[in-house]
Amino acid sequence: MQLLQDYEGYVADREQALAGLRRYENEATALEIEQSNDAVHFLYIDKISEAASAFLTGFPGTCLYAAKANPHPALLRLLWAAGVRHFEVASIREIESLRGELPFAQLYFMHPVKSRQAIARAYALGVRHFAFDSLDELRKIKQETGHAEDIALILRLSVSQVGAAYPLDNKFGATLMEAPLLLTHARQIADKVGVTFHVGSQCLEVEAYANAIYNIANMLDGCGVEIDIIDVGGGFPISYPDMEPAPLQDYFDVIEKALKECGFGDLEIFCEPGRAMVAAGGAVAVRVELRRGQSLYLNDGTYGSLFDAGQLGWAFPVELYRAGRLEVPSETSLFQLYGPTCDSIDKMKEHLALPDDVCEGDWIIFRHLGAYGYAMQTKFNGFYSETMVAIEAASEIV
Ligand SMILES: *Cc1c(COP(=O)(O)O)cnc(C)c1O
Repeated sequence: MQLLQDYEGYVADREQALAGLRRYENEATALEIEQSNDAVHFLYIDKISEAASAFLTGFPGTCLYAAKANPHPALLRLLWAAGVRHFEVASIREIESLRGELPFAQLYFMHPVKSRQAIARAYALGVRHFAFDSLDELRKIKQETGHAEDIALILRLSVSQVGAAYPLDNKFGATLMEAPLLLTHARQIADKVGVTFHVGSQCLEVEAYANAIYNIANMLDGCGVEIDIIDVGGGFPISYPDMEPAPLQDYFDVIEKALKECGFGDLEIFCEPGRAMVAAGGAVAVRVELRRGQSLYLNDGTYGSLFDAGQLGWAFPVELYRAGRLEVPSETSLFQLYGPTCDSIDKMKEHLALPDDVCEGDWIIFRHLGAYGYAMQTKFNGFYSETMVAIEAASEIV
């Protein structure tokens, strides 16, 4: 009975979620009909739902989607339709956009450094969870929420980034040495107190989460402060051509085991996936505007959705669309790819293997770019793409 109701609700919501988005059976049809001058972003309806289900059913706690990975309104609605009710946000714009799209969503303001206006506005809009990593930020939160007690204060700790393909450590986070004093102060202010960390994005080391949890347990043992929440952050990886991570369930199992061993079984547990929730659910198609020898000039680049491919040199699964059909690159040679802006750093760090006869007008589809693709675009030089279309059935080429 319960299941049937959920299922019906889900289907209805999903149709609503996609309202306003053009839908196509596959990528080839989409590119054929769109005739877009800009890059084209694909949203794979089923893959988004699958990833959401994996987190909602597998993770031993509450799953917050980190909105920065891809804040497209249709994607946010699709996640809601799949059952995601909690969202991690970092700015007032993210908060206002989510409030507009999903009025009943629960929002968690997890940026450790917030403006005073942002704190006050967030509280007025119903946000009750705030991260901090210093006494000064704690004071700001206290003042700007009008000394509210109905808030949860979550201390961001800096933890080892070993195993992360994209480390995030040298910017935010209190040390374990600083933590007891900060937690003691937070306890005096708020109803609920917690700790959070981020092991680094695309974390290929399952044990990184367990190590962070053990370190937190040691710290708490030493200082006698009680906490209510442990938030293990984001960092869950997906597969890219050069990076094959352990299954997601292994991460959940390791986290659950560490939490139990440390006596945290009764606390509220959160995670904040960004990449792993949406990467496989998106792709971007970019067009070759000119070929000069082994150089290709594209209509999207490092100031657009190819930041990770360009600046980090990450490899993505690619396909080609030309002559009306999709193909996996074969008989390849290496090409230097350039983005469309006039800036000379707008180029891919690593060469890409593409068919020898790739030419102007061909589209290159970068898969697994549902995270940090669309979201990373700037408007520099007028090159960016708002063209997002939903794809019913991802081609099974990859
Ligand atoms: C970016 C970010 C996330 C999401 O990280 P992923 O590596 O994409 O999972 C989660 N929490 C915070 C605080 C972040 O800044």
